[in-house]
Amino acid sequence: MRKIIIAIDGFSACGKSTTAKEVARLLGYRYIDSGAMYRAVTLYFLDHLVSFSNPKEVDKALNEIKLSFIVNSKGATEIFLNAINVEKAIRKMRISESVSQVSTIKVVRKAMVALQRKMGKDKGIVMDGRDIGTVVFPEAELKLFLSADIMVRAFRRQKELLEKEDLVELDTIIENLQSRDQIDSTRKESPLVRATGAIEIDTTNITVDEQVDEVVRLALSQMLIKKWKG
Ligand code: C5P
Repeated sequence: MRKIIIAIDGFSACGKSTTAKEVARLLGYRYIDSGAMYRAVTLYFLDHLVSFSNPKEVDKALNEIKLSFIVNSKGATEIFLNAINVEKAIRKMRISESVSQVSTIKVVRKAMVALQRKMGKDKGIVMDGRDIGTVVFPEAELKLFLSADIMVRAFRRQKELLEKEDLVELDTIIENLQSRDQIDSTRKESPLVRATGAIEIDTTNITVDEQVDEVVRLALSQMLIKKWKG
């Protein structure tokens, strides 16, 4: 079957990465968490005291950053920043609190988008983020836009953080999700909007299995359409 690109966008904590990971596993596709890339850049900026508003410092830092994804022994994709596994470090609240600000910087986006397009050039990829169906792969065969109720999203995020032994108050999480939604959807560069042709899935009342089934079903039909078209 011909390979396709699956682009999944949506607000923070709507189940994008959980769905994307499982869909990629079932289809034998590569999974790329584009949010992890912006988070890793943020980690570097914070640790190296890079001033977000200083273009020279930002450019210099971007030149020093090398990002890669490696599949671990359990089959999960992990992000490496300059050869160091930062998968855990980038999920901390201190990163969540600054990542949306870093993501508004034009040169940061330009560098990330170039890397993302390179990773998708052979197709067979599931990528999730905020601008995947609009900017990175507007030609993706399957585009999805995920949404969910804010309380459901906050509980899911709190559970995820707890599993990583990070206890964060629900109010703090809600505030962070709302603030990121606001910055992400109103920024000048590649704001989060539903891409033309994207199928919307509200994950508030459905299970992860149901989300995954739906996306796999949609992906298989796109693959068939591609096969018929030749
Ligand atoms: O997906 P995740 O919540 O980890 O993304 C963290 C942040 O990275 C988002 O809130 C957004 O500011 C930024 N991001 C982005 N474009 C993407 C993916 C993430 O601006 N494609």
